[in-house]
Amino acid sequence: MDYQQILNQIEAELSAKKSTGKVASYIPELAKIDPEKFGMHLHCINSGHYYFGSNNERFSIQSISKVFALTQAMSLLGDDLFKRVDVEPSGNPFNSLVQLEYERGVPRNPFINAGALVISDILISQLKNPKKDFLDFIHQITDDKSIEINTHVFKSEKEYSYRNAALLNLMKAFGNIENDIETVLDFYIYQCAIEMSCKELSKAFMIYANQGKKLSDNTQILSAQKTKRINAIMQTCGFYDEAGEFSFRVGLPGKSGVGGGIASIHPGQYSVTVWNPKLNPKGNSELGMFALERLTTLTGYSIF
Ligand code: GLU
Repeated sequence: MDYQQILNQIEAELSAKKSTGKVASYIPELAKIDPEKFGMHLHCINSGHYYFGSNNERFSIQSISKVFALTQAMSLLGDDLFKRVDVEPSGNPFNSLVQLEYERGVPRNPFINAGALVISDILISQLKNPKKDFLDFIHQITDDKSIEINTHVFKSEKEYSYRNAALLNLMKAFGNIENDIETVLDFYIYQCAIEMSCKELSKAFMIYANQGKKLSDNTQILSAQKTKRINAIMQTCGFYDEAGEFSFRVGLPGKSGVGGGIASIHPGQYSVTVWNPKLNPKGNSELGMFALERLTTLTGYSIF
């Protein structure tokens, strides 16, 4: 398969395509990004790297961090974890409060904000130094200790975190949050403020394409069974209330973030990350989804 030629074609198609998407502005610092940035990085298990655009430039990973947090939580806890957060698609916006009231404080899945806040609470209870341990985990799976948070994004989100605070308060009232609300909010926002490039995210996501093992040194980060489960949750819940549409169009498990990144995998084949900050009305990168749709169409392979 000539992946570079396929990426060249996707790059050419993108340059002719107009996006009607909008950069996320509810976190004011995110609105400062150049909306025209585009990066794509494909990391194949057998044949190496293919890329174009700003594939090496770091951006705010936002909700893509939810996959790493779930991975850490699943490596620390067994199935008990899923008593506190379910694994069903929500069909609701990522920060919705509505379902949570009906379902008595148990979030639908770990990739909507409510679910990720429960995972943050679990990590705070389990880890000695949650922020450091979380960042160390990212350094371990990327072999890169220079990855850090963007403190401006962190502060900016903290100032406007009314909805996440509301979700936490509601879940605390139902007895599903153990720690202090401020502490959980702070740790959650910290994870979201991490910056990584498409290249670094593709390296990190390689563990999900490679049965839980790092490709660089074969370290087993997560069991193959737990990796399968994370991939299943990415497939059904990775794109807010557009998870069905992403499956329909792209056909790969993945996770998006409001920073405009999408990290995705083809089990046993590759990991791939795309980045363009302009989001569609559901909060997913519009051109990013287009590029991934073209990738699975032009290669002729998806998981379906
Ligand atoms: N930090 C963001 C929030 O909680 C993450 C949202 C996202 O990327 O989906 O609103």
